[in-house]
Amino acid sequence: MTTLLWLQGGACSGNTMSFLNAEQPSACDLVTDFGIEVLWHPSLGMEMGDHAQEIFRACASGEQPLDIFVFEGTVILGPNGTGRFNMFADRPMKDWVAELAPQANVVVAIGDCACWGGIPATAPNPVDSVGLQYLKRQRGGFLGSEFRSKWGLPVINIPGCPAHPDWVTQILVAIATGRAKDIALDELQRPLTFFKTFTQTGCTRVQFFEYKQATKEFGQGTRTGCLFYEFGCRGPMTHSPCNRILWNRQSSKTRAGMPCTGCTEPEFPFYDLAPGTVFKTQKISGVIPKDIPEGTDHVTYMAHAAAARVAAPEWAKEDMFVV
Ligand code: SF4
Ligand code: SF4
Repeated sequence: MTTLLWLQGGACSGNTMSFLNAEQPSACDLVTDFGIEVLWHPSLGMEMGDHAQEIFRACASGEQPLDIFVFEGTVILGPNGTGRFNMFADRPMKDWVAELAPQANVVVAIGDCACWGGIPATAPNPVDSVGLQYLKRQRGGFLGSEFRSKWGLPVINIPGCPAHPDWVTQILVAIATGRAKDIALDELQRPLTFFKTFTQTGCTRVQFFEYKQATKEFGQGTRTGCLFYEFGCRGPMTHSPCNRILWNRQSSKTRAGMPCTGCTEPEFPFYDLAPGTVFKTQKISGVIPKDIPEGTDHVTYMAHAAAARVAAPEWAKEDMFVV
């Protein structure tokens, strides 16, 4: 048996809703096939009031062994460091987190808010939100950069707004089957198995990206062109497997003609959602994309783009479907 406790801080519950839709494996499979005992979860826990508090207290004291502590949502510090903007079970949620995290064999942050503060931590960060071990890209967060769980691991970050359900359940299975220490993490403590590649990896419009052919208007996007040039798609700069592990096992934003908004990166939402920055490619001098594919520079990118446009074959300018 692997025990799991899941708490929610400053959250919209979106990651719980996502988790409950998991398919490979499903939330039920975690219990029936992989021996995970859910001690309590905000949407699944049967206990309320004093009974729920007994579970939290037993975990916090070490009386109840805790294998996996999952946290969803931000850790809220306001007002004035008291955490009283987010009361839970008779005390600030941050105090529960401070006691529970060191008791867990593994700590998992689910969604952008828990990983690095997410949308609530966007300036002016009104309730003083932080992630478990990061504030945006800066290491530290609520638990501090030196924090390690009982098994000596840093917080495992599974970002996204929300995280894809199967990223969550597959990592929980890896932990429950004794492979927690084999989960390779990137510099933001994201599992590399999911976050080494880009949203662009597997996108059905990547040939249009290659030949620099732009989608010109919304709705055209599912048939021709790439959303990078006019609609602000962040697929080439965003680490996610959204086009490898499809949503609902069916599709992805970019396959459906919707730009990737980069939700698995600490800077999300980009440009703080200032008017005119959503679904619009930000450009220098009205021509050069401000943000360019990871690993290149503006001069190299522009030279490559000019050559690709010249080399573009006719088919790259056409509708990719025949009806
Ligand atoms: S639509 Fe986005 S993810 Fe797809 S090829 Fe273009 S930039 Fe890349
Ligand atoms: S396509 Fe982009 S914005 Fe959408 S879920 Fe994936 S990483 Fe997030």
